Amino acid sequence: MNQKLRRFVSGEELWQWRKTAQKAAIAAKVSPSELDWLLQEVAGLERLTLCLESFRDLPQIPIQLEIEELDRLWQRRLSEFLPVQYIAGVVYWRNFKLAVSPAVLIPRPETEQLIDLAVMAAKNSSISLEQGHWADLGTGSGAISLGLAEIFPQAKIHGVDCSSAAIEIARKNSLLLGFGSRIKFYQGFWWEPLALFKGKLSGMVSNPPYIPSALVAKLQPEVAQHEPRLALDGGDDGIDCLRYLVETAPDYLLPGGVWLAETMAGQAEIVASLLHDRKSYTNISIHTDLAGIERFVLALKIN
Ligand code: GLN
Repeated sequence: MNQKLRRFVSGEELWQWRKTAQKAAIAAKVSPSELDWLLQEVAGLERLTLCLESFRDLPQIPIQLEIEELDRLWQRRLSEFLPVQYIAGVVYWRNFKLAVSPAVLIPRPETEQLIDLAVMAAKNSSISLEQGHWADLGTGSGAISLGLAEIFPQAKIHGVDCSSAAIEIARKNSLLLGFGSRIKFYQGFWWEPLALFKGKLSGMVSNPPYIPSALVAKLQPEVAQHEPRLALDGGDDGIDCLRYLVETAPDYLLPGGVWLAETMAGQAEIVASLLHDRKSYTNISIHTDLAGIERFVLALKIN
């Protein structure tokens, strides 16, 4: 979305459009609260202003896109399930406002917890990990890298993604949020760009693709039809990437380094036993998300 051109709409015109768009949303069983969130983002209106409809009297409201374009995208939200975050081009995640596009998965609220688990793991390790190098494999929008950079102010973060379009977005997010000097992003396949860090990483954090291939098409249409398949499809049983990360991480982690990943419901036990069978990890633990689903698996590389 081009934010450089200044466009304006009258309060009355926007009010009229919102009324029509609300009705269409209800008819399509989409929550009208999504519409108001979108208007907060693209027209800078407060929730209360929207709620009280007090913007109707404003002669000019700056807006990031023409009302015709907004209408066209809102129709796509309703008829094609285009996620509203892709229309606004942003998502809120932890303390950050992140740019997103259909080139990257929309960071989920449950993934925020990975960062808190990394902190806990670093505290529990026998070695000091907060000042070292951390890898975020499959970084997408860069969310996990940014979360790690924020909570480990002394650390250097290395975000990797095979998609160059994703890396472009991750870099943009990191620069806008002032982390340009502490996070380095690399386009490449998993560890490939990190050969220099063999045996030196304090931790690896990843939210890899973990949906079984046959299930991808059955996810809600917003996800299945619009989010990048590359970020979702984890092979036949969904565990291909997690298995690969269990297998390969010991070559890159310091003794006492952290292995931490997100999984789908039902996969955590399997991943924990893969870690166990690899015989290079200790302190293997499973952690639930806020919905009570076993979602995260954590381990330390043996000393
Ligand atoms: N959590 C995402 C979903 O539920 C999947 C992300 C992933 O595969 N890592 O759609």
